[in-house]
Order: sequence, then C-alpha cells, then structure tokens
Amino acid sequence: MKLHEYQAKEIFRRYHIRVPAGEVAGSVDKVIESARNINGPPWVVKAQVHAGGRGKAGGVRIADSLEQLKQAAKEILGRPLISEQTGPEGKRVTKLLIEEAVEIERELYLAMTIDRSKAEPVIIFSQVGGMDIEEVARVSPEQLMNEHIPFDMGWSPFVAKKLAYGLDPLPGPNTLKELTNIISRLYTVFMELDCSLAEINPLVTTKKGDVIALDAKINIDDNALFRRKAMADLDDPLEKEHLEREAAKYHLNYIKLDGNIGAMVNGAGLAMATMDLIKMAGAEPANFLDVGGGASEEMVTKGLEIILMDEKVKAIFINIFGGILRCDVLARGVLAAAEKTHIKVPVIVRLEGTNVEDGRKILEESDLKFMVAKDMNEAADLVTRAVSITV
Ligand code: GDP
Ligand code: MN
Repeated sequence: MKLHEYQAKEIFRRYHIRVPAGEVAGSVDKVIESARNINGPPWVVKAQVHAGGRGKAGGVRIADSLEQLKQAAKEILGRPLISEQTGPEGKRVTKLLIEEAVEIERELYLAMTIDRSKAEPVIIFSQVGGMDIEEVARVSPEQLMNEHIPFDMGWSPFVAKKLAYGLDPLPGPNTLKELTNIISRLYTVFMELDCSLAEINPLVTTKKGDVIALDAKINIDDNALFRRKAMADLDDPLEKEHLEREAAKYHLNYIKLDGNIGAMVNGAGLAMATMDLIKMAGAEPANFLDVGGGASEEMVTKGLEIILMDEKVKAIFINIFGGILRCDVLARGVLAAAEKTHIKVPVIVRLEGTNVEDGRKILEESDLKFMVAKDMNEAADLVTRAVSITV
C-alpha cells in the first residue's frame, strides 16, 4: 500500500526526520490560506499522487509570490498529471502539498527496501540525489552504496557511519552527525511500520548544515496491514481505478488491464498462466482477477460482475482449479452472476478439481450457452475462436 508524500512526511516528523514545514490543501483558496502559515515566498507546491517523476511532469512548482502560487495551484489541481510513472492517462490531482522552499546545497538519495534475492533489508545511499534512481543505477552504478541489514543482526549505528562517510567531498561534522541520525531513524521507520519501501529522494543538505527530506515515499507491506491499522487507515481509495476499488471491497485481487478478454481465475500462478494462454491465443487480457483459494459463491458472482462492468470485455475466460473452492460452488456463482447481469458475451469455462462433474453439469444444463472446455488446450482453442469472432 502506497502512502502520499504528505502522509509519509507526517510519519518522518514523528520519527524526527526533518521535513520542510507544510500543509495539504484541496482547493486553490486553501493553498493561499496555507501560505499565510508557512514561511515564504518562495513556496513549493506539489501534486499529491501515487507516482514519482512529478518534478519533470510539472507537478512540483516553486512560487516566488502569492500570485505565482495561485497560478501554479490552478494549473495543477483537478487535472491529470502525466509523469513517467502514471501511464498515458495520468493521475488526477485532488490534493496539493504546500511547503516552505528549501535552499539546496547538495541533493542525496537515501532509501530502505527489501532485497528479495537475499531476503534481507537493504539501505541504499547515493550522493547523486534528486534524479531518477533507476537511471543512476544504469549509467553509474558505482555511485550507489548499499548495506544489507540481516534480520538477526539488528541495527548497528556503524552502518549509518559507513554510508555517510562514503560521501565525497565529506560534509562538515554537524551535517555528518545529522545524516547518520537520519539513516538510523529511517531504519526504525522501516522496521516499526512494516514498510516495503521508505525512500527520500532528494535528501538535501543546506548551507547551514541541516539535512532535510524534501521528498518522501513510503510503501507498507500489504501483508502486514492487519497489524498496522493506523497505516491501513491512510489508504487513499481515490488513487485506485474505480473497478479495483469495487473489487477491494469484496477482497478480490483484481487489476485492470487494457485487453478485451476478461479472466477469472483462482490462484495467482494460474492467473498468470491464463494470461499467457490468452496472449498465445492472439488476444489481450482485460484484467487480472484472482478470486482466491477459498472464494465464496458471492465473491465469484461479484468478480464476474466487475469483469462485465469493463465495457471493453468481449469474451470471458473462467479458469478454475477446484481445491478449497469447489467447482459446484463456482458454477452456482457464475449462474447467479449471469442471471443478474444478462451476460451477452461468450463465456468459456475450464474447470478441474473438486466436484468438477457437478460443476460442469450445472453449467451445461443451464439455459445460458457456456462453452465448457475439457482442458487447457480446448480452452485455448475456444478463446482463439471467440477472439476471431469478436475482432
Ligand atoms: P518527484 O519528481 O516526484 O520525485 O518530486 P520531488 O519532491 O523529488 O521534487 C522534484 C524536484 O523538485 C527535487 O528533486 C528538487 O530538485 C525540486 N524541489 C523540491 N522541493 C524543493 C525546494 O524546497 N527547493 C528547491 N530549490 N527545489 C525543490
Ligand atoms: Mn523525488
């Protein structure tokens, strides 16, 4: 789960990682009102969307007067921001963060994440901050320092020192001390909140020797949300696609894609394989939908309804391996959804596993014309056929 920059900065404040003074605003009037509480001009006004690359996309502006601030807020608010990370349709900006501008001396990069190949947290630090870090990793990987923190070792302040003293030229003693403190505090944030990512880009130094987090990105591990209620409450449903929002209500694992073959599957691995199958049949999947191992009839019904809400969908492929989810339960869910939604597109079903005979029978005996496939091969043929009819 991603947090907004302003939420991440609120957390940083609590952990004594210094951030610029700032306020969130949902309207141009509120931006101007907030400016009165914040040192300036100059101020910085920043689009709050779950995507990076806002600076280059015009979503971060420096304003030297109230006039400029108002103009910048008007230009960003209520419109989609299209950055390298948002996709071509962009993300609509509904909130702005207004902050006092900081005079930057150096821009650094600091992040903590999990190195999956080693199954260990890792701190990444670089003196090339403020830029796209993937680009730095590609062009000058020697500029990235990293330190693994094995779970059984816990924190050692030496790690922070080692990183900070890797800077060239070396900053003054106050800055170094502040920097090592911030690295330690970011470690605490990461561990205490079950983060999957905590990133500060740029982490800046000022002439006065202060070290300030100008940007803040925190992702919380979804699997830890059950024990991080306060974090779960920070979720912004507006950031989700509306069908994804609907699916989340029913605990369905749904991601909208651009194709026209809807897919309903149980199990993430089978869902991946099914998407491959659809592609090999010459079509594109309209979604990823994993109803989960123990889906109820209601969840199956809801899943199908959500697929059908996507107007692009021209055929549906239901691919179920019945384990905990029994095939007869699935079949009844599909029928219930069909009755509710008046499915007009072809539905291809491949069932295998627990109570498969009952499941197939329920579908075959219904008035609706399901295409029930014996196996994956036949299912692929049916998908190919459906594609050739619908394009
Ligand atoms: P991102 O592009 O989405 O990562 O947004 P950032 O918050 O990182 O802002 C982009 C860039 O704007 C930063 O790298 C800075 O160079 C610049 N910027 C942001 N805040 C300030 C500020 O207070 N003062 C100055 N001088 N530049 C800023
Ligand atoms: Mn940034």
